[in-house]
Amino acid sequence: MPPQDPAPSLATSLNARSRSAWRLAQVSAWLIGVAIFALLFVLPEVGLAALWNTLIPVAPALIVFAPGVWRNVCPLGTTAVAARHAGLSARRSLSPLSRVWLNFAGVVALFVIVLWRRFELNTNAQSTAAVLAALGALSIAMGAVFEWKSGWCSGLCPVHGVEKLYGSKPLIAVDNAHCDACERCTNPCPDSTDAIHPMLGTSCFPQIASEWLLVGAFPGFVWGWFHVPDHVGGWEWSSALSDSTPVLLGASATLAAFIGIRRLVPKRHEGRLVRVFAAATVSCYYWYRIPALFGCGPFPTDGTLIDLSAVLPDGWIGLSRAVTTTIFVGWIVFYPASKRHWLHRPPYASGTISGSSDWESGFTESGDPSANRFSQASPLVQLDVAATDRATEWPSANGHGERTRTFHSEPRGAPSRASRGNGRSLHSVPKDSADR
Ligand code: SF4
Repeated sequence: MPPQDPAPSLATSLNARSRSAWRLAQVSAWLIGVAIFALLFVLPEVGLAALWNTLIPVAPALIVFAPGVWRNVCPLGTTAVAARHAGLSARRSLSPLSRVWLNFAGVVALFVIVLWRRFELNTNAQSTAAVLAALGALSIAMGAVFEWKSGWCSGLCPVHGVEKLYGSKPLIAVDNAHCDACERCTNPCPDSTDAIHPMLGTSCFPQIASEWLLVGAFPGFVWGWFHVPDHVGGWEWSSALSDSTPVLLGASATLAAFIGIRRLVPKRHEGRLVRVFAAATVSCYYWYRIPALFGCGPFPTDGTLIDLSAVLPDGWIGLSRAVTTTIFVGWIVFYPASKRHWLHRPPYASGTISGSSDWESGFTESGDPSANRFSQASPLVQLDVAATDRATEWPSANGHGERTRTFHSEPRGAPSRASRGNGRSLHSVPKDSADR
């Protein structure tokens, strides 16, 4: 039985000092993002270096160890929830199926944007600015329509899949600095669910495809990406496929390995399988990225922040690779940390529980889960995927018939807005059946 997090993710709220500190951090990160966007027009080389060779290389490590900090200060996330903070969001609920499709679209967007970097974005500031503007507009639109983070941060954002891949074993959990009160916009809430990972989800096509791409294909994709040079001065559609050969080969190889290994791994060890592939991916990233930052990458000048190749001692690349691989594999795969969530869940919003079902009638208007008679039930809640599959006539799970998933500590006895809004059923299940 894997270790259980003894500290439930409940009823934490920001005091005035913490709120001010997080708001300052959010505004600072947002202004940095705006400054980088502006630099792409006025000083293109500086803007490209600031984005692709400074900000982005830091992000994977931050997501591994402190995904909650990333989620609190990400400029696009702040942009997405600005409408909600201003009281201008329509606050619509997303059905679980819609959210899975949004997640899948985000994963596809991740692969397209990352590959596009090699063909154009890494060296073309105007195209990079256009992509950032499009992502910003999408985040605003999703936040204006959907409740809190459900539309963007936990929905369509291309980085969200990476957060779930890398962030299953955070070093620290911090307070949620965006959601003033939990409206149960997302079930399971990735911020508040212990040891969330990409393979916790319903067994439908977009979920399976996301798992295959994100967990299976991503390590080889990253490896192949570092074996494709930047295209300076544009690229041709006709050669795009041949130029992408290393990426396609790498992604295919690790996807095949993932599919094969997964058949041998019991379902309760799926989380460990994800962590092995996650550690391989992030280790591969820094294996190549750190040398490239200092002018020692596979292709001279590609991805270089400052060229120190003439002054760095022999053997530093090997040392760098040994250190980063030891840190990420050791932490993600081997370190026996307790399960943790990314962000402490804020208090449940009052007045969000109403209606006449058994679930809802057991809740109090105070929003205090401790006052709910269902809070004495098992903290494990199972999304009834089989019923969902029948209702929506999805194809069979993955060739092995219908499949169910369980979630630990989510929603801790409380029905979500999403689950209440579309008639999907939630059932308590025995703790021993935890899908870990
Ligand atoms: S804490 Fe609640 S309101 Fe915030 S993202 Fe999670 S489920 Fe939504």
